[in-house]
Amino acid sequence: MAIQIPNRQLFIDGEWREPALKKRIPIINPATEETIGDIPAATAEDVEIAVEAARKALARNKGRDWFSASGALRAKYLRAIASKIKERKPELAKLEAIDSGKPLDETTSDIDEVAGCFEYYAGLAEGLDAKQKAPISLPTENFKTHVLQEPIGVVGLITAWNYPLLMAAWKVAPALAAGCAAILKPSELASITCLELAEVCIKVGLPPGVLNILTGLGQEAGAPLASHPHVDKVAFTGSTITGSKIMAAAAQLVKPVSLELGGKSPIVVFEDVDIEKAVEWTCFGIFLTNGQICSATSRLIVHERIAAEFMDRLLKWCKNIKVSDPMDEGCRLGPVVSRGQYEKILKFISTAKSEGAKVAFGGGHPEHLKKGFFIEPTIITDVTASMQIWREEVFGPVLCVKTFGSEEEALELANDTYYGLGAAVMSKDSERCERFSKALQAGIVWINCSQPSFIQAPWGGIKRSGFGRELGEWGLDLYLSVKQVTQYVSDQPWGWFKSPSKP
Ligand code: NDP
Repeated sequence: MAIQIPNRQLFIDGEWREPALKKRIPIINPATEETIGDIPAATAEDVEIAVEAARKALARNKGRDWFSASGALRAKYLRAIASKIKERKPELAKLEAIDSGKPLDETTSDIDEVAGCFEYYAGLAEGLDAKQKAPISLPTENFKTHVLQEPIGVVGLITAWNYPLLMAAWKVAPALAAGCAAILKPSELASITCLELAEVCIKVGLPPGVLNILTGLGQEAGAPLASHPHVDKVAFTGSTITGSKIMAAAAQLVKPVSLELGGKSPIVVFEDVDIEKAVEWTCFGIFLTNGQICSATSRLIVHERIAAEFMDRLLKWCKNIKVSDPMDEGCRLGPVVSRGQYEKILKFISTAKSEGAKVAFGGGHPEHLKKGFFIEPTIITDVTASMQIWREEVFGPVLCVKTFGSEEEALELANDTYYGLGAAVMSKDSERCERFSKALQAGIVWINCSQPSFIQAPWGGIKRSGFGRELGEWGLDLYLSVKQVTQYVSDQPWGWFKSPSKP
């Protein structure tokens, strides 16, 4: 049965609102290239209204505002959101699959994680109440000091399209748990489920203005949001280029930012592995989400002693990957998100060939699919460390391969990148794995696996992959401001004239 695409407006101040310029952007199903609906396109005028609504939601109003609400009250709303998301899971998973091209199995588990994320931060919101007024031990009895952890204020949340609702949840849930009011700007390439989050907020009666959702283009809606003087912080997930623009805009106002950016993560496979298991993780690490993962382990660095057998098995696995409409049972690789992305990936492959690399598998559009932005699982060999395909983020189902002889060589290859998001090492030697986990330059290291992420564990990169850690308690800290409160408690006068340096 065809799935109905809801017709939505912008979500501002607790209500649906037509965009100021009445513009809409078509939604293209990447598997069929058909237009299946449209989304509203916000511009600077809408950003202005949403920022005003968010500020109002935080305004101190007899203790009933979001800023000073107890963590327990915020937790109640977050749990209600989680529960509504669970109720709508099958529908949301289908909407996300049709919008983004991700296999339905994957979007179904993503929606579970979305609900889990709201529940997790509900728990941390409750914990915040107990953390308030934490006393600090001082070397004097004349003063008492405690710490308040307060919401940063109004936050702009700008996200990418590869995990549309999950990336939004990673930001919205901790921001609301902390007591911030948020304006979410998802990617215009996959916004349907984020607008359904608005519908969920209406259903649970979230106070107006606490969460506002503005779909639209990066230039027209994202840029005015990032540079708005009354947005106190920007949290961004996207490319390194856009991340640096956001940082530049924020720098004008000395506004804090957190940036989850791109990657070119290595997977280093030593000669002592169980090859079949390592091949499976290698495939998972690059082909999950149709290859569009920031942390995709897109550079395989395999020991020369097992390289031939590894490649043999890898190509067999690639042959068995079902490339199909994301709604089909057993689909493991759907289309990439848009024509632009599709063409960009094919260009990467043709440049690799022109630079002398070889396509060992795939490399183009699968023959059995006439339409859609599908790209075969692709393996590129004969790569040198200076080639574009080895250095730049493709953000598609393309793995490039190099071999190594010594541990030093493997480490040098792995770290020779300006990115630093994820890195995987595979070996039965636990001491070697530990050595590697310390030496790899990345925010996340996987040992004998690739890609798992957990709501409880920190996520984020170093170098040009950004800074700040989402998820876990680190994710909540991104939206909290720490205030020191110090009180003079002695009965005696301070005595400045007698001893000016007395603490
Ligand atoms: P982009 O940087 O193109 O866009 C990300 C978001 O920023 C979108 O909502 C986009 O809107 C918006 N945007 C674009 N230009 C501006 C601007 N000047 N000011 C404010 N906002 C703007 O990234 P993609 O959407 O193409 O996502 C892919 C990238 O995201 C990859 O590099 C990937 O590695 C990274 N990523 C990182 C993750 C991490 O956790 N580190 C996770 C997921 C993805 P619009 O789409 O409408 O242009």
